[in-house]
Amino acid sequence: MEAGLQKNNFENTRVRMAPSPTGFLHIGSVRTTLFNYLFAKHYKGTFVLRIEDTDVERSTLEFEKDIIENLKWLGIDWDEGPEKEGQYGPYKQSQRLDIYKQYLQKLLDEDKAYYCFCTEEELEAQYQDMASRGLIPKYSGHCDHFDIEEIKQKLLENKSAVIRFRMPNKIIEINDLVRGHLKFDTSLFGDIIIAKNLNEPLYNFAVVIDDYLMKITHVIRGDDHISNTPKQIVIAEALDITPATYAHISTILGPDKTRLSKRHGSTSIASYKQAGYLPEALINFIALMGWHPSGDQEIFSLEQLIDQFTVERLLKSPAIFNIQKLDFFNNHYLQKKSPEEMSKIIIDFLLENKVIIKQGTDQYLIKDNNLKINESWFTRLSQIETKKIKKLSDFLEYDDYLFQEKISYEPNLLNWKDALLNDTALAIDKCIDIVSEIEEGNFKSEFIQIIFDRCISENQIYQKNRGLILWPLRVALSGKKDSAGPYEILELIGKELSLKRLQEAKKILR
Ligand code: GLU
Ligand code: ZN
Repeated sequence: MEAGLQKNNFENTRVRMAPSPTGFLHIGSVRTTLFNYLFAKHYKGTFVLRIEDTDVERSTLEFEKDIIENLKWLGIDWDEGPEKEGQYGPYKQSQRLDIYKQYLQKLLDEDKAYYCFCTEEELEAQYQDMASRGLIPKYSGHCDHFDIEEIKQKLLENKSAVIRFRMPNKIIEINDLVRGHLKFDTSLFGDIIIAKNLNEPLYNFAVVIDDYLMKITHVIRGDDHISNTPKQIVIAEALDITPATYAHISTILGPDKTRLSKRHGSTSIASYKQAGYLPEALINFIALMGWHPSGDQEIFSLEQLIDQFTVERLLKSPAIFNIQKLDFFNNHYLQKKSPEEMSKIIIDFLLENKVIIKQGTDQYLIKDNNLKINESWFTRLSQIETKKIKKLSDFLEYDDYLFQEKISYEPNLLNWKDALLNDTALAIDKCIDIVSEIEEGNFKSEFIQIIFDRCISENQIYQKNRGLILWPLRVALSGKKDSAGPYEILELIGKELSLKRLQEAKKILR
């Protein structure tokens, strides 16, 4: 039978994302999840989240929580699944073992599966023998003929066993929604292991049962699963189950065109969240890896993606992961936030990263330099700095001088172009005088600017070249070649810390 060769019919579709909680949620899984989600939402179907934790050794609750929390953070919501029990639950494989057992027993009873007692050494010997005869190594079928009594006896003796599926030799053809017509020869597989025992089914088996019982109509998953597809189809057929329609989405490659992996930097969503990428930027970025819109629009909200998503526009060719693109999207979405929204976002980010602590309603303390600040401080920071920020962690990199007590820099950096050291020292003295005069209550950049403007207009050298005073002022406050303007920094770090830094600069210049 040819699975999925019927005409595309996307009515009443049910799709699923079936992550294994054996690692932190990574970019590739989010993309698969997103495409399933967009498919379900676009065609008005149902999106199921199923936790595939049959691999007991590698699955942990911590990873499961990471997957669930981060999907929620990204705004990808499921209709059925953990925390949303529906008609076909439970949605966690470890809670469905009794169900798999019945189907395993059925296959055993019908002699479509059998116990294999081969030890690892025996299997190795079988493989080597085949290889030496120029054959592709696969299970030899050594145990496929034991009678019931023999099997009972061996099981009673506690011989370690696995359950193998009697693989039919046939050609399986599917019409993959992304990759088109695909053909597989199952005789290459040999009798595969489908369970360690009645209570420990393996992925290829459990997935067939779940997709069937959860009435999954379309399986959209990474093309690393292509070789599993024919195996799942024959298992389904052995159980009289009509297989779903498949869509295998392209691989994500790193910039060097090898499969995206840790070598290319971090791939977990948590790490992008921690670096200060916005969920909407990640969604936009990830959607365009493997799916392309009909026009040349690049910026898409989740709603727009749902609206425009169609299966036909899933790409067969691999997607390339381009971090600059993600930075571009993130900068775009950051710019779109109002300063008030940004203020909240920055606060959350800095709290999370333990740079600030909350001290009361609208009261925060910068841990390292003891500055007491409130929401309007962050609003100002956002107005001043958001333009150049690609991700929130850039605030900590570009504006570290706001969050630290001590700053360090080369003394020469204080010097404006070829100014004389002595002149720079005089300029710093002048700055100390001016800043000392300004009252704390007036420490706003506009006011500070007025005062400095007055000083500059009264002073011929500075009038001719404002850099002679403003450059050393800015460097003394920031320790950096590039930073926010001096008046803004004065406002943000306040009178006390500003004076401290100016005194430091004075010392350095002596
Ligand atoms: N648990 C499998 C995985 O995480 C699911 C694959 C599938 O979608 O069938 O790779
Ligand atoms: Zn065997």
